[in-house]
Amino acid sequence: MAKIENSIMIVFGASGDLTQRKLIPAVHSLGCEGLLPERFHIIGISRSELSDNAFRNRLFSGVKEYSRSDPKVCSLWEGFGESVEYLRGEYDKQETYDALNKRIQDIESNDRKNYNLLLYFAIPPDVHETILKHLNRSGLVGSEGRKVHIVIEKPFGRDLQSARELNRLVHESFGEDQIFRIDHFLGKETVQNILAFRFANSIFEPLWNRQFVDHIQITVAEEVGLEHRAGYYDHSGVLRDMFQNHMLQLLTLIAMEPPAVFEADALRDEKVKVLRALNKCSDVVLGQYKGYLEEEGVAEKSKTPTFAALKMFLDNWRWKGVPFYLRSGKKMKRKVSEISVHFKSVPHMLFGHSVNGEDVSPNILSLCIQPDEGMKLYFEAKIPGGSMKTRTVKMDFSFSGGFGNDILPDPYERLLVDVMQGDASLFARSDEIELAWGIIDPIIRRQENGEIKLFTYETGSWGPEESSLLVSSEGREWFVCCCGVNGEQPEEKDDAGK
Ligand code: NDP
Repeated sequence: MAKIENSIMIVFGASGDLTQRKLIPAVHSLGCEGLLPERFHIIGISRSELSDNAFRNRLFSGVKEYSRSDPKVCSLWEGFGESVEYLRGEYDKQETYDALNKRIQDIESNDRKNYNLLLYFAIPPDVHETILKHLNRSGLVGSEGRKVHIVIEKPFGRDLQSARELNRLVHESFGEDQIFRIDHFLGKETVQNILAFRFANSIFEPLWNRQFVDHIQITVAEEVGLEHRAGYYDHSGVLRDMFQNHMLQLLTLIAMEPPAVFEADALRDEKVKVLRALNKCSDVVLGQYKGYLEEEGVAEKSKTPTFAALKMFLDNWRWKGVPFYLRSGKKMKRKVSEISVHFKSVPHMLFGHSVNGEDVSPNILSLCIQPDEGMKLYFEAKIPGGSMKTRTVKMDFSFSGGFGNDILPDPYERLLVDVMQGDASLFARSDEIELAWGIIDPIIRRQENGEIKLFTYETGSWGPEESSLLVSSEGREWFVCCCGVNGEQPEEKDDAGK
């Protein structure tokens, strides 16, 4: 790993949930693993009235609760707390940026060292423009002798037009190699493993195409509802919150061609080709869970979808005619993120199947992103005994079994290191973001124009009945291999997700 240079992390939106629950706990774990640079400072900025101490205490309680490294075991915070400071300020006042500049200069002159800057936008998207305009004027960005990287959280814009405008604005001061549009899904080990699995093994890639694959499913289901984020969610809905970023990112990784090298632009070129090949999506089922309208902060008669299922096609040689079924929603039966590749049935079956003479099951390869991180391959095996009948069995790999029981690193840990090293492989490029919006935007417009019906669904279900029809009308069924903790819960191969 390349050496990480001394850095100051400047967090806009420092009083918020993301900073306390994700960013600083990740920084803490990195420090405990010796992955922070020799000198590392944090300056948190937001409008709330907080002293340095109150801010540190707030962050430390986040570290205690959420960091992978237990602060009782790792004593990093004892010294580290001193390197954390808070700046109260309004984002539309030049004095905030002057004060920030002064703080940076103070740190540099005290330490007699130059620092790289990591500007982290952990604020709601409607504040991005104000901060960018002030940063552009403040001189912080263009200063010589230091690298400046900017991290912008999702959602990047709220539609194609605003994403383009945000790209234009951020490009006024930053080169594309300085911009890190974060989608924490890409920092997950299991998501990166999609690439390792596909391109470090030779046995599956020859099958990874329209000749052998019947269809592919991507399910990202949440059990939780709004979690006090109604203000944000009710204006976004599942298409903006999940599909424009996480779902399309998963689709690009599962469908892309192998890049020639594992480098940011080579990877992103291939992902962009997938997005370009995505056909206009005409099969859409949208849903809203029952009780959503009674949630605090939700607008009266809100039409915000909390569930969506889409059927999409890729117009390219590899995937022409293979349906990709994507679904995601809140308040669903189980928290599960999974991609399943459903292979075609054998052309001619010689043997009987065990279960009531049913047809033999096609092979399924299931990539479990969370919570049971691993992979399963379902195939047919002969049932021992006199008759020649088969039953579906599985090969099961779990990350905990394969690599030990350690908790997998939080995605923010990996992504923060990448930002400090200037490696944008796991971040979205401007064209990628705009293409993704170009796919999701028309669906949002159609719903807003009343062309797509909004169904309701029971909480704790797999979404509206109509989403089952989306697949069953073609003789398929939704599939998730929820194997539960340590496989204690029964596997639901035949009816899960219906
Ligand atoms: P919060 O709603 O907690 O807001 C962060 C901070 O921004 C607040 O503490 C507040 O600080 C400030 N803020 C809120 N509204 C405004 C406003 N209108 N003008 C100026 N400042 C404002 O957001 P999160 O921390 O949850 O998320 C931050 C960003 O990260 C968002 O873009 C979100 O979509 C994204 N994100 C968050 C995730 C999470 O798990 N929380 C996951 C993935 C992405 P103050 O009032 O003190 O200025």
